[in-house]
Amino acid sequence: MDEVRNYYDIVQFVSEYVQLKRAGRNYFGLCPFHGEKTPSFSVSPDKQIFHCFGCGEGGDVFSFIMKADNLTFPEAVTVLAKRVGISPPQAALSPAEERTQRTRERMFDAVSWAQRYYRHRLEQPGDNAAQQYLNQRGLSAEAIHRFGLGFAPDSWDSCKQFLLKKGFSEQELLDTGILTQGEKRNYDRFRKRVTFPICDRRGEIIAFGGRILGEGTPKYLNSPETPLFDKSKHLYALHLAQGAIRLYKQAVIFEGYLDVIAAHQAGITNVVASLGTSLTEAQARLLRGQAEEVVIVYDADTAGQAATWRGVQILRQAGCLVKVGRLPTGLDPDDYIRRFGGEVFRREVIGKSQLLVDYQLESLTEHFNPEKDDERIRLFAKISDVLASVENAMEREDYIEKMSARLTVPASAIREELRKKRQPFAQRKQVNQIAGVTQQIENAVDKAPLQLVALWSRFPSLQRFAVELEDDDFPVELRFLLTAAKEGEDLFSPANVLELLPAGRYRQALSRLLIDDHYKEKLAEKAVADCVRLLKIVRIACRRKELAAEMAKLDPVTSKGEIAELSRRWLELRKLEEVINNPREGGKGVG
Ligand SMILES: [Zn+2]
Repeated sequence: MDEVRNYYDIVQFVSEYVQLKRAGRNYFGLCPFHGEKTPSFSVSPDKQIFHCFGCGEGGDVFSFIMKADNLTFPEAVTVLAKRVGISPPQAALSPAEERTQRTRERMFDAVSWAQRYYRHRLEQPGDNAAQQYLNQRGLSAEAIHRFGLGFAPDSWDSCKQFLLKKGFSEQELLDTGILTQGEKRNYDRFRKRVTFPICDRRGEIIAFGGRILGEGTPKYLNSPETPLFDKSKHLYALHLAQGAIRLYKQAVIFEGYLDVIAAHQAGITNVVASLGTSLTEAQARLLRGQAEEVVIVYDADTAGQAATWRGVQILRQAGCLVKVGRLPTGLDPDDYIRRFGGEVFRREVIGKSQLLVDYQLESLTEHFNPEKDDERIRLFAKISDVLASVENAMEREDYIEKMSARLTVPASAIREELRKKRQPFAQRKQVNQIAGVTQQIENAVDKAPLQLVALWSRFPSLQRFAVELEDDDFPVELRFLLTAAKEGEDLFSPANVLELLPAGRYRQALSRLLIDDHYKEKLAEKAVADCVRLLKIVRIACRRKELAAEMAKLDPVTSKGEIAELSRRWLELRKLEEVINNPREGGKGVG
Protein backbone atom coordinates (compact mmCIF):
# COMPACT_ATOMS: atom_id res chain seq x y z
CA MET A 1 0.00 0.00 0.00
CA ASP A 2 2.78 2.35 0.97
CA GLU A 3 4.41 1.73 -2.35
CA VAL A 4 1.37 3.05 -4.16
CA ARG A 5 0.87 5.89 -1.74
CA ASN A 6 4.44 7.06 -1.83
CA TYR A 7 4.39 7.27 -5.59
CA TYR A 8 1.45 9.55 -5.65
CA ASP A 9 1.42 13.11 -4.47
CA ILE A 10 -1.85 13.81 -2.71
CA VAL A 11 -1.80 17.45 -3.82
CA GLN A 12 -1.56 16.45 -7.45
CA PHE A 13 -4.36 13.97 -7.03
CA VAL A 14 -6.72 16.18 -5.07
CA SER A 15 -6.15 18.99 -7.61
CA GLU A 16 -8.11 16.96 -10.09
CA TYR A 17 -11.14 17.41 -7.87
CA VAL A 18 -10.52 20.65 -6.03
CA GLN A 19 -8.85 23.87 -7.07
CA LEU A 20 -6.11 24.28 -4.51
CA LYS A 21 -4.18 27.38 -3.58
CA ARG A 22 -1.06 27.36 -1.50
CA ALA A 23 -1.11 29.19 1.84
CA GLY A 24 1.95 28.59 3.98
CA ARG A 25 2.84 24.93 4.21
CA ASN A 26 -0.58 23.66 3.17
CA TYR A 27 -2.93 24.00 0.24
CA PHE A 28 -6.51 25.19 0.62
CA GLY A 29 -9.65 24.86 -1.45
CA LEU A 30 -13.40 24.43 -1.32
CA CYS A 31 -14.33 21.13 0.28
CA PRO A 32 -15.63 18.51 -2.17
CA PHE A 33 -17.58 16.84 0.61
CA HIS A 34 -19.76 19.67 1.85
CA GLY A 35 -21.19 22.92 0.51
CA GLU A 36 -19.17 26.00 1.37
CA LYS A 37 -18.14 29.31 -0.07
CA THR A 38 -14.91 29.96 1.78
CA PRO A 39 -12.20 27.32 1.68
CA SER A 40 -11.85 25.17 4.78
CA PHE A 41 -10.46 22.11 3.06
CA SER A 42 -6.71 21.75 3.41
CA VAL A 43 -4.10 19.38 2.03
CA SER A 44 -0.65 18.92 3.48
CA PRO A 45 2.05 17.96 0.99
CA ASP A 46 4.53 17.22 3.81
CA LYS A 47 2.21 14.82 5.53
CA GLN A 48 0.31 13.61 2.49
CA ILE A 49 -3.04 14.02 4.19
CA PHE A 50 -6.13 16.20 3.88
CA HIS A 51 -8.52 17.64 6.41
CA CYS A 52 -11.66 19.75 6.19
CA PHE A 53 -12.17 22.18 9.06
CA GLY A 54 -15.80 22.57 7.99
CA CYS A 55 -17.16 19.03 7.92
CA GLY A 56 -14.30 17.23 9.65
CA GLU A 57 -13.56 14.80 6.83
CA GLY A 58 -9.93 13.78 6.70
CA GLY A 59 -7.45 11.09 5.76
CA ASP A 60 -4.86 10.11 3.22
CA VAL A 61 -5.06 9.81 -0.54
CA PHE A 62 -6.92 6.50 -0.33
CA SER A 63 -9.63 7.84 1.94
CA PHE A 64 -9.94 10.80 -0.38
CA ILE A 65 -10.52 8.78 -3.50
CA MET A 66 -12.86 6.35 -1.73
CA LYS A 67 -15.01 9.18 -0.54
CA ALA A 68 -14.80 11.30 -3.69
CA ASP A 69 -15.48 8.54 -6.17
CA ASN A 70 -17.59 6.27 -4.02
CA LEU A 71 -15.08 3.41 -4.23
CA THR A 72 -14.10 0.61 -1.90
CA PHE A 73 -10.57 0.49 -0.51
CA PRO A 74 -9.29 -2.18 -2.94
CA GLU A 75 -10.76 -0.20 -5.83
CA ALA A 76 -9.06 2.98 -4.64
CA VAL A 77 -5.74 1.12 -4.44
CA THR A 78 -6.22 -0.21 -7.95
CA VAL A 79 -7.07 3.21 -9.34
CA LEU A 80 -3.94 4.76 -7.88
CA ALA A 81 -1.72 1.84 -8.82
CA LYS A 82 -2.90 2.14 -12.41
CA ARG A 83 -2.19 5.85 -12.37
CA VAL A 84 1.39 5.35 -11.26
CA GLY A 85 1.83 2.42 -13.59
CA ILE A 86 2.50 -0.37 -11.12
CA SER A 87 0.50 -3.53 -10.67
CA PRO A 88 -1.98 -3.16 -7.82
CA PRO A 89 -0.90 -4.85 -4.62
CA GLN A 90 -3.28 -7.36 -3.09
CA ALA A 91 -5.09 -5.75 -0.19
CA ALA A 92 -5.63 -7.98 2.81
CA LEU A 93 -9.41 -8.21 3.13
CA SER A 94 -11.67 -9.73 5.71
CA PRO A 95 -14.02 -12.45 4.39
CA ALA A 96 -16.93 -9.99 4.52
CA GLU A 97 -14.98 -7.33 2.62
CA GLU A 98 -13.95 -9.94 0.11
CA ARG A 99 -17.59 -10.90 -0.47
CA THR A 100 -18.63 -7.27 -0.98
CA GLN A 101 -15.73 -6.73 -3.33
CA ARG A 102 -16.60 -9.84 -5.32
CA THR A 103 -20.26 -8.75 -5.58
CA ARG A 104 -19.22 -5.34 -6.85
CA GLU A 105 -16.87 -6.83 -9.41
CA ARG A 106 -19.67 -9.08 -10.66
CA MET A 107 -21.94 -6.06 -10.98
CA PHE A 108 -19.37 -4.11 -12.98
CA ASP A 109 -18.96 -7.21 -15.16
CA ALA A 110 -22.68 -7.59 -15.74
CA VAL A 111 -23.03 -3.97 -16.73
CA SER A 112 -20.10 -4.14 -19.11
CA TRP A 113 -21.50 -7.31 -20.75
CA ALA A 114 -24.85 -5.56 -21.15
CA GLN A 115 -22.95 -2.74 -22.84
CA ARG A 116 -21.34 -5.19 -25.25
CA TYR A 117 -24.74 -6.61 -26.02
CA TYR A 118 -26.33 -3.22 -26.74
CA ARG A 119 -23.40 -2.16 -28.88
CA HIS A 120 -23.51 -5.37 -30.83
CA ARG A 121 -27.20 -4.85 -31.53
CA LEU A 122 -26.58 -1.32 -32.74
CA GLU A 123 -23.80 -2.40 -35.05
CA GLN A 124 -25.87 -5.06 -36.76
CA PRO A 125 -26.07 -4.35 -40.46
CA GLY A 126 -29.27 -4.21 -42.41
CA ASP A 127 -32.45 -2.28 -41.79
CA ASN A 128 -31.38 -0.86 -38.46
CA ALA A 129 -33.79 1.73 -37.07
CA ALA A 130 -31.46 2.76 -34.25
CA GLN A 131 -28.61 3.44 -36.68
CA GLN A 132 -30.94 5.45 -38.83
CA TYR A 133 -32.15 7.48 -35.90
CA LEU A 134 -28.62 8.35 -34.81
CA ASN A 135 -27.55 9.22 -38.33
CA GLN A 136 -30.59 11.39 -38.72
CA ARG A 137 -29.60 13.18 -35.50
CA GLY A 138 -26.31 13.89 -37.20
CA LEU A 139 -24.06 11.81 -34.93
CA SER A 140 -20.79 10.67 -36.43
CA ALA A 141 -19.60 7.08 -36.15
CA GLU A 142 -16.71 8.36 -34.07
CA ALA A 143 -19.03 10.07 -31.56
CA ILE A 144 -21.30 7.01 -31.38
CA HIS A 145 -18.25 4.94 -30.59
CA ARG A 146 -16.71 7.34 -28.09
CA PHE A 147 -19.95 7.67 -26.13
CA GLY A 148 -20.61 3.95 -26.39
CA LEU A 149 -24.12 4.26 -27.74
CA GLY A 150 -26.04 1.04 -28.22
CA PHE A 151 -29.44 -0.35 -28.94
CA ALA A 152 -31.80 -2.38 -26.76
CA PRO A 153 -34.13 -4.19 -29.16
CA ASP A 154 -37.89 -4.39 -28.86
CA SER A 155 -37.88 -7.61 -26.84
CA TRP A 156 -38.76 -8.60 -23.28
CA ASP A 157 -35.80 -10.81 -22.62
CA SER A 158 -33.14 -10.81 -25.32
CA CYS A 159 -30.60 -9.00 -23.15
CA LYS A 160 -31.58 -11.17 -20.19
CA GLN A 161 -31.05 -14.39 -22.16
CA PHE A 162 -27.69 -13.16 -23.39
CA LEU A 163 -26.48 -12.34 -19.88
CA LEU A 164 -27.85 -15.54 -18.34
CA LYS A 165 -25.78 -17.44 -20.88
CA LYS A 166 -22.77 -15.44 -19.75
CA GLY A 167 -23.29 -16.91 -16.30
CA PHE A 168 -25.01 -14.06 -14.44
CA SER A 169 -27.95 -14.81 -12.16
CA GLU A 170 -31.29 -13.05 -12.48
CA GLN A 171 -30.67 -11.54 -9.05
CA GLU A 172 -27.40 -10.00 -10.22
CA LEU A 173 -29.16 -8.54 -13.24
CA LEU A 174 -31.91 -7.13 -11.04
CA ASP A 175 -29.35 -5.64 -8.67
CA THR A 176 -27.64 -3.79 -11.50
CA GLY A 177 -30.95 -2.52 -12.88
CA ILE A 178 -30.52 -4.30 -16.21
CA LEU A 179 -33.72 -6.23 -15.49
CA THR A 180 -36.98 -4.98 -14.05
CA GLN A 181 -38.84 -7.11 -11.56
CA GLY A 182 -42.22 -8.22 -12.89
CA GLU A 183 -45.02 -10.10 -11.15
CA LYS A 184 -44.40 -13.34 -12.97
CA ARG A 185 -40.95 -12.89 -14.37
CA ASN A 186 -38.13 -10.41 -14.63
CA TYR A 187 -37.67 -8.67 -17.95
CA ASP A 188 -35.32 -6.31 -19.81
CA ARG A 189 -35.58 -2.77 -18.47
CA PHE A 190 -34.46 -1.19 -21.74
CA ARG A 191 -36.53 -2.17 -24.75
CA LYS A 192 -36.68 -0.47 -28.13
CA ARG A 193 -34.33 2.20 -26.89
CA VAL A 194 -31.05 3.77 -27.88
CA THR A 195 -28.80 3.18 -24.88
CA PHE A 196 -26.34 5.63 -23.36
CA PRO A 197 -23.87 4.17 -20.91
CA ILE A 198 -23.46 6.33 -17.81
CA CYS A 199 -19.94 6.24 -16.43
CA ASP A 200 -18.25 7.23 -13.23
CA ARG A 201 -15.38 9.64 -13.32
CA ARG A 202 -12.92 6.89 -14.17
CA GLY A 203 -14.95 5.96 -17.23
CA GLU A 204 -16.30 2.70 -15.77
CA ILE A 205 -19.88 2.05 -16.81
CA ILE A 206 -22.21 2.07 -13.82
CA ALA A 207 -25.67 2.50 -15.38
CA PHE A 208 -27.56 3.23 -18.58
CA GLY A 209 -29.90 5.81 -19.96
CA GLY A 210 -32.25 4.90 -22.79
CA ARG A 211 -34.17 6.99 -25.28
CA ILE A 212 -37.25 5.46 -26.84
CA LEU A 213 -37.04 4.81 -30.57
CA GLY A 214 -40.17 6.21 -32.16
CA GLU A 215 -43.23 6.89 -30.03
CA GLY A 216 -43.66 5.72 -26.45
CA THR A 217 -43.27 6.76 -22.86
CA PRO A 218 -41.24 7.62 -21.02
CA LYS A 219 -39.11 9.23 -23.67
CA TYR A 220 -36.03 8.91 -21.50
CA LEU A 221 -35.40 6.20 -18.95
CA ASN A 222 -32.44 5.72 -16.62
CA SER A 223 -31.25 2.75 -14.60
CA PRO A 224 -32.59 2.85 -11.06
CA GLU A 225 -30.27 3.56 -8.16
CA THR A 226 -28.01 0.57 -7.56
CA PRO A 227 -24.95 -0.07 -5.40
CA LEU A 228 -22.92 1.19 -8.36
CA PHE A 229 -25.13 4.10 -9.35
CA ASP A 230 -26.22 7.01 -7.21
CA LYS A 231 -27.67 9.43 -9.71
CA SER A 232 -27.32 12.40 -7.40
CA LYS A 233 -23.54 11.99 -7.38
CA HIS A 234 -22.66 11.56 -11.04
CA LEU A 235 -22.90 13.65 -14.16
CA TYR A 236 -23.32 12.38 -17.67
CA ALA A 237 -20.04 12.44 -19.66
CA LEU A 238 -17.97 13.93 -16.85
CA HIS A 239 -15.23 11.37 -17.53
CA LEU A 240 -14.92 12.73 -21.08
CA ALA A 241 -15.37 16.38 -20.17
CA GLN A 242 -13.24 16.74 -17.06
CA GLY A 243 -9.97 17.43 -18.88
CA ALA A 244 -11.50 20.30 -20.84
CA ILE A 245 -13.36 21.57 -17.78
CA ARG A 246 -10.11 21.85 -15.86
CA LEU A 247 -8.36 23.41 -18.81
CA TYR A 248 -10.96 26.13 -19.41
CA LYS A 249 -11.94 26.34 -15.72
CA GLN A 250 -15.47 26.34 -17.03
CA ALA A 251 -18.18 23.67 -17.18
CA VAL A 252 -21.30 23.75 -19.30
CA ILE A 253 -24.41 21.83 -18.27
CA PHE A 254 -27.11 20.58 -20.60
CA GLU A 255 -30.23 18.59 -19.94
CA GLY A 256 -30.03 15.95 -22.66
CA TYR A 257 -27.49 13.26 -23.40
CA LEU A 258 -27.80 13.77 -27.14
CA ASP A 259 -27.17 17.49 -26.67
CA VAL A 260 -23.93 16.65 -24.86
CA ILE A 261 -22.79 14.32 -27.60
CA ALA A 262 -23.60 16.88 -30.29
CA ALA A 263 -21.54 19.49 -28.43
CA HIS A 264 -18.53 17.20 -28.00
CA GLN A 265 -18.75 16.25 -31.65
CA ALA A 266 -18.67 19.95 -32.53
CA GLY A 267 -15.52 20.40 -30.46
CA ILE A 268 -17.11 21.82 -27.30
CA THR A 269 -15.85 19.26 -24.88
CA ASN A 270 -16.39 20.87 -21.47
CA VAL A 271 -20.04 19.84 -21.50
CA VAL A 272 -21.87 17.45 -19.16
CA ALA A 273 -25.53 16.72 -18.38
CA SER A 274 -27.41 16.15 -15.18
CA LEU A 275 -28.98 12.73 -14.95
CA GLY A 276 -32.62 13.39 -15.64
CA THR A 277 -33.27 15.17 -12.37
CA SER A 278 -32.69 18.63 -11.06
CA LEU A 279 -29.05 19.25 -10.17
CA THR A 280 -28.02 18.09 -6.73
CA GLU A 281 -25.61 19.58 -4.27
CA ALA A 282 -23.16 16.72 -4.76
CA GLN A 283 -23.13 17.32 -8.52
CA ALA A 284 -22.61 21.02 -7.96
CA ARG A 285 -19.59 20.22 -5.79
CA LEU A 286 -18.17 17.94 -8.46
CA LEU A 287 -18.20 20.82 -10.91
CA ARG A 288 -17.08 23.46 -8.47
CA GLY A 289 -13.99 21.43 -7.75
CA GLN A 290 -12.84 21.74 -11.33
CA ALA A 291 -14.42 24.86 -12.75
CA GLU A 292 -14.47 28.46 -11.66
CA GLU A 293 -17.57 29.11 -13.68
CA VAL A 294 -20.56 26.96 -14.53
CA VAL A 295 -22.79 27.81 -17.47
CA ILE A 296 -26.25 26.29 -17.50
CA VAL A 297 -27.87 25.94 -20.89
CA TYR A 298 -31.33 24.46 -20.73
CA ASP A 299 -34.18 24.49 -23.21
CA ALA A 300 -36.02 27.77 -23.39
CA ASP A 301 -39.44 26.17 -22.79
CA THR A 302 -41.10 26.72 -19.42
CA ALA A 303 -40.14 23.35 -17.95
CA GLY A 304 -36.59 24.15 -18.89
CA GLN A 305 -36.84 27.47 -17.10
CA ALA A 306 -38.10 25.99 -13.84
CA ALA A 307 -35.28 23.46 -13.97
CA THR A 308 -32.80 26.23 -14.70
CA TRP A 309 -33.80 28.17 -11.61
CA ARG A 310 -33.59 25.19 -9.33
CA GLY A 311 -30.25 24.10 -10.72
CA VAL A 312 -28.88 27.58 -10.50
CA GLN A 313 -29.84 27.96 -6.85
CA ILE A 314 -28.11 24.71 -6.01
CA LEU A 315 -24.96 25.64 -7.88
CA ARG A 316 -24.87 29.01 -6.18
CA GLN A 317 -25.31 27.49 -2.76
CA ALA A 318 -22.40 25.19 -3.49
CA GLY A 319 -20.28 28.26 -4.18
CA CYS A 320 -20.14 28.22 -7.99
CA LEU A 321 -20.13 31.31 -10.14
CA VAL A 322 -23.19 30.56 -12.24
CA LYS A 323 -24.10 31.90 -15.62
CA VAL A 324 -27.06 31.11 -17.78
CA GLY A 325 -26.82 30.62 -21.53
CA ARG A 326 -29.92 31.56 -23.49
CA LEU A 327 -31.16 29.66 -26.50
CA PRO A 328 -33.65 31.03 -28.99
CA THR A 329 -37.15 29.76 -28.17
CA GLY A 330 -37.91 26.38 -29.68
CA LEU A 331 -34.32 25.25 -30.05
CA ASP A 332 -32.45 22.84 -27.84
CA PRO A 333 -28.64 22.79 -27.82
CA ASP A 334 -28.54 19.94 -30.30
CA ASP A 335 -30.74 21.81 -32.82
CA TYR A 336 -28.73 24.96 -32.35
CA ILE A 337 -25.37 23.31 -32.85
CA ARG A 338 -26.55 21.42 -35.90
CA ARG A 339 -27.94 24.56 -37.43
CA PHE A 340 -25.18 27.04 -36.61
CA GLY A 341 -22.17 24.93 -35.66
CA GLY A 342 -20.00 24.70 -32.57
CA GLU A 343 -18.13 27.96 -33.03
CA VAL A 344 -21.31 30.04 -33.12
CA PHE A 345 -22.63 28.17 -30.11
CA ARG A 346 -19.48 28.89 -28.19
CA ARG A 347 -19.52 32.56 -29.11
CA GLU A 348 -23.22 33.38 -28.95
CA VAL A 349 -24.56 31.09 -26.24
CA ILE A 350 -21.64 30.30 -23.94
CA GLY A 351 -19.80 33.56 -24.61
CA LYS A 352 -22.86 35.70 -24.02
CA SER A 353 -24.14 33.78 -21.04
CA GLN A 354 -25.34 36.09 -18.29
CA LEU A 355 -24.71 36.20 -14.62
CA LEU A 356 -27.58 34.60 -12.83
CA VAL A 357 -29.14 37.75 -11.43
CA ASP A 358 -29.00 39.55 -14.77
CA TYR A 359 -30.57 36.56 -16.40
CA GLN A 360 -33.34 36.36 -13.82
CA LEU A 361 -34.11 40.06 -13.96
CA GLU A 362 -34.14 40.04 -17.71
CA SER A 363 -36.47 37.04 -18.00
CA LEU A 364 -38.79 38.64 -15.46
CA THR A 365 -38.98 41.96 -17.24
CA GLU A 366 -39.66 40.09 -20.47
CA HIS A 367 -42.40 38.10 -18.82
CA PHE A 368 -44.33 40.93 -17.15
CA ASN A 369 -45.41 44.20 -18.64
CA PRO A 370 -44.43 47.06 -16.30
CA GLU A 371 -46.87 49.37 -18.10
CA LYS A 372 -49.80 47.52 -16.56
CA ASP A 373 -50.34 48.27 -12.89
CA ASP A 374 -51.21 44.75 -11.70
CA GLU A 375 -48.32 43.16 -13.60
CA ARG A 376 -45.97 45.79 -12.33
CA ILE A 377 -46.81 44.89 -8.74
CA ARG A 378 -46.22 41.20 -9.35
CA LEU A 379 -43.02 41.99 -11.17
CA PHE A 380 -41.90 44.13 -8.24
CA ALA A 381 -42.50 41.25 -5.82
CA LYS A 382 -40.60 38.75 -8.00
CA ILE A 383 -37.71 41.12 -8.52
CA SER A 384 -37.42 41.72 -4.79
CA ASP A 385 -37.13 37.95 -4.35
CA VAL A 386 -34.25 37.81 -6.79
CA LEU A 387 -32.48 40.81 -5.28
CA ALA A 388 -32.92 39.45 -1.78
CA SER A 389 -30.77 36.48 -2.76
CA VAL A 390 -27.83 38.71 -3.73
CA GLU A 391 -25.49 38.49 -0.79
CA ASN A 392 -22.90 41.08 -1.69
CA ALA A 393 -24.22 44.45 -0.51
CA MET A 394 -22.51 46.55 -3.19
CA GLU A 395 -23.71 44.28 -5.92
CA ARG A 396 -27.22 44.42 -4.47
CA GLU A 397 -27.18 48.20 -4.37
CA ASP A 398 -26.14 48.22 -8.03
CA TYR A 399 -29.12 46.13 -9.02
CA ILE A 400 -31.47 48.19 -6.87
CA GLU A 401 -30.47 51.34 -8.77
CA LYS A 402 -30.88 49.60 -12.11
CA MET A 403 -34.30 48.22 -11.25
CA SER A 404 -35.45 51.45 -9.72
CA ALA A 405 -34.78 53.19 -13.04
CA ARG A 406 -36.34 50.42 -15.06
CA LEU A 407 -39.55 50.09 -13.04
CA THR A 408 -39.75 53.77 -12.13
CA VAL A 409 -40.01 52.84 -8.48
CA PRO A 410 -38.01 54.78 -5.86
CA ALA A 411 -34.89 52.88 -4.80
CA SER A 412 -35.89 53.39 -1.16
CA ALA A 413 -39.09 51.37 -1.73
CA ILE A 414 -37.09 48.44 -3.11
CA ARG A 415 -34.65 48.65 -0.21
CA GLU A 416 -37.49 48.59 2.31
CA GLU A 417 -39.02 45.52 0.62
CA LEU A 418 -35.64 43.77 0.66
CA ARG A 419 -35.06 44.49 4.32
CA LYS A 420 -38.21 42.51 5.11
CA LYS A 421 -37.23 39.68 2.82
CA ARG A 422 -33.62 39.26 3.75
CA GLN A 423 -34.20 38.32 7.39
CA PRO A 424 -35.30 34.73 6.75
CA PHE A 425 -32.38 34.35 4.33
CA ALA A 426 -29.85 35.22 6.96
CA GLN A 427 -31.44 32.85 9.46
CA ARG A 428 -31.57 29.97 7.05
CA LYS A 429 -27.91 30.37 6.32
CA GLN A 430 -27.02 30.00 9.95
CA VAL A 431 -29.01 26.80 10.32
CA ASN A 432 -27.23 25.33 7.29
CA GLN A 433 -23.88 26.06 8.78
CA ILE A 434 -24.71 24.39 12.05
CA ALA A 435 -26.06 21.30 10.33
CA GLY A 436 -22.76 20.86 8.49
CA VAL A 437 -20.61 20.51 11.57
CA THR A 438 -19.98 17.00 12.77
CA GLN A 439 -19.51 15.86 16.29
CA GLN A 440 -16.17 17.06 17.50
CA ILE A 441 -13.90 15.95 20.27
CA GLU A 442 -13.39 19.03 22.39
CA ASN A 443 -12.92 17.67 25.86
CA ALA A 444 -9.24 17.79 26.85
CA VAL A 445 -9.19 14.27 28.28
CA ASP A 446 -10.74 12.74 25.17
CA LYS A 447 -8.43 14.79 23.04
CA ALA A 448 -5.18 13.90 24.83
CA PRO A 449 -4.65 10.45 23.27
CA LEU A 450 -5.24 11.89 19.80
CA GLN A 451 -2.91 14.76 20.50
CA LEU A 452 -0.26 12.27 21.58
CA VAL A 453 -0.67 10.27 18.39
CA ALA A 454 -0.37 13.44 16.32
CA LEU A 455 2.77 14.51 18.16
CA TRP A 456 4.33 11.05 17.94
CA SER A 457 3.64 11.15 14.25
CA ARG A 458 5.49 14.42 13.88
CA PHE A 459 8.30 13.66 16.34
CA PRO A 460 8.86 9.89 16.58
CA SER A 461 11.45 10.32 19.36
CA LEU A 462 8.66 11.47 21.67
CA GLN A 463 7.16 8.00 21.55
CA ARG A 464 9.46 7.26 24.48
CA PHE A 465 6.83 8.82 26.76
CA ALA A 466 4.38 6.07 25.87
CA VAL A 467 5.77 3.70 28.51
CA GLU A 468 4.35 5.93 31.22
CA LEU A 469 0.83 5.17 30.06
CA GLU A 470 -1.40 2.16 30.59
CA ASP A 471 -3.82 0.58 28.16
CA ASP A 472 -6.84 2.05 29.90
CA ASP A 473 -5.55 5.56 29.34
CA PHE A 474 -6.45 5.24 25.66
CA PRO A 475 -9.92 4.54 24.25
CA VAL A 476 -10.24 1.02 22.87
CA GLU A 477 -10.15 2.15 19.24
CA LEU A 478 -6.79 3.85 19.70
CA ARG A 479 -5.13 1.37 22.03
CA PHE A 480 -3.17 -0.38 19.28
CA LEU A 481 -1.40 2.91 18.64
CA LEU A 482 -0.29 3.14 22.25
CA THR A 483 1.09 -0.39 22.03
CA ALA A 484 2.84 0.46 18.77
CA ALA A 485 4.42 3.54 20.34
CA LYS A 486 5.65 1.54 23.32
CA GLU A 487 7.20 -1.01 21.02
CA GLY A 488 8.69 1.67 18.79
CA GLU A 489 6.81 0.42 15.77
CA ASP A 490 7.21 2.57 12.69
CA LEU A 491 3.63 3.19 11.67
CA PHE A 492 3.13 6.80 12.66
CA SER A 493 3.50 8.57 9.35
CA PRO A 494 0.46 10.89 9.10
CA ALA A 495 -1.07 9.18 6.07
CA ASN A 496 -0.52 5.75 7.52
CA VAL A 497 -1.85 6.46 10.95
CA LEU A 498 -5.03 7.98 9.50
CA GLU A 499 -5.46 4.99 7.27
CA LEU A 500 -5.26 2.69 10.29
CA LEU A 501 -8.10 4.46 12.09
CA PRO A 502 -11.65 3.55 11.19
CA ALA A 503 -13.58 6.36 9.47
CA GLY A 504 -15.43 8.43 12.03
CA ARG A 505 -14.83 10.95 14.72
CA TYR A 506 -11.38 9.74 15.77
CA ARG A 507 -10.05 9.93 12.25
CA GLN A 508 -11.65 13.31 11.73
CA ALA A 509 -10.22 14.71 14.94
CA LEU A 510 -6.79 13.29 14.24
CA SER A 511 -6.59 14.59 10.70
CA ARG A 512 -7.42 17.99 12.09
CA LEU A 513 -4.64 17.80 14.66
CA LEU A 514 -2.18 16.52 12.10
CA ILE A 515 -2.80 19.17 9.53
CA ASP A 516 -2.98 21.94 12.05
CA ASP A 517 0.19 21.25 13.97
CA HIS A 518 2.75 24.00 14.31
CA TYR A 519 4.90 22.72 17.16
CA LYS A 520 8.63 23.04 17.41
CA GLU A 521 10.28 20.01 18.96
CA LYS A 522 10.82 21.67 22.34
CA LEU A 523 7.20 22.71 22.66
CA ALA A 524 6.09 19.36 21.34
CA GLU A 525 7.94 17.61 24.14
CA LYS A 526 6.21 19.76 26.70
CA ALA A 527 2.85 19.09 25.04
CA VAL A 528 3.46 15.35 25.15
CA ALA A 529 4.42 15.54 28.80
CA ASP A 530 1.27 17.55 29.52
CA CYS A 531 -0.95 15.01 27.80
CA VAL A 532 0.71 12.12 29.61
CA ARG A 533 0.30 13.91 32.93
CA LEU A 534 -3.34 14.66 32.25
CA LEU A 535 -4.10 11.05 31.40
CA LYS A 536 -2.30 9.80 34.49
CA ILE A 537 -4.19 12.18 36.75
CA VAL A 538 -7.47 11.12 35.26
CA ARG A 539 -6.54 7.50 35.78
CA ILE A 540 -5.58 8.07 39.41
CA ALA A 541 -8.70 10.10 40.13
CA CYS A 542 -10.77 7.24 38.76
CA ARG A 543 -9.03 4.68 40.97
CA ARG A 544 -9.46 6.86 44.04
CA LYS A 545 -13.14 7.13 43.30
CA GLU A 546 -13.35 3.36 42.97
CA LEU A 547 -11.57 2.87 46.29
CA ALA A 548 -13.83 5.36 48.00
CA ALA A 549 -16.88 3.58 46.63
CA GLU A 550 -15.53 0.23 47.85
CA MET A 551 -14.87 1.60 51.34
CA ALA A 552 -18.34 3.05 51.53
CA LYS A 553 -19.80 -0.39 50.96
CA LEU A 554 -17.88 -1.97 53.87
CA ASP A 555 -19.10 -2.18 57.47
CA PRO A 556 -16.80 0.02 59.62
CA VAL A 557 -16.97 -2.45 62.55
CA THR A 558 -16.53 -5.85 60.92
CA SER A 559 -14.20 -4.79 58.06
CA LYS A 560 -11.84 -2.54 59.95
CA GLY A 561 -8.70 -4.13 58.49
CA GLU A 562 -9.86 -3.97 54.92
CA ILE A 563 -10.87 -0.35 55.28
CA ALA A 564 -7.46 0.54 56.71
CA GLU A 565 -5.79 -1.14 53.73
CA LEU A 566 -8.02 0.68 51.26
CA SER A 567 -7.40 4.04 52.92
CA ARG A 568 -3.67 3.43 52.77
CA ARG A 569 -3.90 2.84 49.03
CA TRP A 570 -6.19 5.83 48.68
CA LEU A 571 -3.61 8.05 50.39
CA GLU A 572 -0.81 6.69 48.24
CA LEU A 573 -2.73 7.64 45.14
CA ARG A 574 -3.37 11.03 46.58
CA LYS A 575 0.35 11.58 47.11
CA LEU A 576 1.15 10.31 43.65
CA GLU A 577 -1.33 12.77 42.28
CA GLU A 578 0.44 15.61 44.03
CA VAL A 579 3.77 14.50 42.65
CA ILE A 580 2.38 14.48 39.15
CA ASN A 581 0.72 17.83 39.60
CA ASN A 582 3.82 19.53 41.02
CA PRO A 583 6.71 17.61 39.55
CA ARG A 584 9.52 19.75 41.06
CA GLU A 585 8.36 20.22 44.65
CA GLY A 586 6.95 16.70 44.82
CA GLY A 587 10.28 15.30 43.65
CA LYS A 588 11.94 16.39 46.91
CA GLY A 589 9.33 15.14 49.32
CA VAL A 590 8.74 11.65 47.97
CA GLY A 591 11.11 8.88 47.03
ZN1 LIG B 1 -15.80 19.60 4.23
